[in-house]
Amino acid sequence: MVFLPATLAEDSSGGPFTVVVQTREEFTHWLRAPNPNAESIQVEGLIGDPEVWALAAQGGMQIPLDVILSDPALEFSSLYRLVDVRLVREVRVSIPTRPGFLKALRLAASLQLPVRLLPGQPSPQSLVELNEAAHFYLRDPMVEVPVEFFHSVFSAFRGMEEGTLWTFLEQDPAFFCHVDPAGQALHEPDFVEAHLSDLLKTGAECATCRWQPICAGYFKWPDPAYDCAGVKELFATLESAAVEITRDLATQEIESSS
Ligand code: SF4
Repeated sequence: MVFLPATLAEDSSGGPFTVVVQTREEFTHWLRAPNPNAESIQVEGLIGDPEVWALAAQGGMQIPLDVILSDPALEFSSLYRLVDVRLVREVRVSIPTRPGFLKALRLAASLQLPVRLLPGQPSPQSLVELNEAAHFYLRDPMVEVPVEFFHSVFSAFRGMEEGTLWTFLEQDPAFFCHVDPAGQALHEPDFVEAHLSDLLKTGAECATCRWQPICAGYFKWPDPAYDCAGVKELFATLESAAVEITRDLATQEIESSS
C-alpha cells in the first residue's frame, strides 16, 4: 500500500493508495470525490474539528478512515465525534503511546473503535501505561475490537499469524510505502532488513534477544541505544497470556471430547 499526501494523490494514476489529509479542505474533498484508487483516508490533526466529523458521518462514499491522534491525553474526549462516523464507514484510531494515551485507548475500546497503538520508543512513563494497556486488552471483557499491535503479536505467539512489529504496525516499507510531499519514498523497501543487519553488525542486544523474530529491531529505531528492558517485559506478558490461553483451550477440547 502506498501512502500519498493529498497534494500528490489527486493526479495519481498508479495502483491503490491511502491518501493522507491534514486540513479540513483536503478531508472534505476526499470524502466527497475520491479517486477510485483511493482505498482509505489517513486523517491527521483533525480530531478537534467537529465540522469534518459531522460531514464524515453523512455517509456517501464509504471510504474507510484511519484517524491519527497527536496528543491522546488532550484529545481523547474528541473520540466521541467518531461514534456517528463509525455507523456509516470503517474507522480506526491510531494512538501514539505518549503519556496519558491509556484514556484514549479505553474510550476508543468502549466506543467499539479498532485501535492501532504506535509505540515508537516508549518512555519509562509510557511503558507503565503500555503494560496497563496490555492487561486491559488481555483481560477486560469490554475489549471486543482489535487493539494493534497487541492483537497481532498475541496471535503470532499463538501461531496464528506471521510477521513482525513493522508489518503489524503498517510501518514496513517493503509493504507500506510512505511518500513525502516531494513524491519521494521515506525509506527504501529493504529498510527493515538493512536496519536489523546494521544492528547485528554493531553488536546491538538484538543479536541475542529472544524477541528478535517478531520485533526485528523495531524498538532500536531511530535511536539504536534505546534500552529495551521494558519492551522485552511487554513481549513476555503477551507471550505468557498466549501460552495460557492455548493451554486452556487444549484442556477444554480434551474435556469436551472425553
Ligand atoms: S526488543 Fe529490543 S533488543 Fe529485542 S529485537 Fe527488539 S529492538 Fe532488538
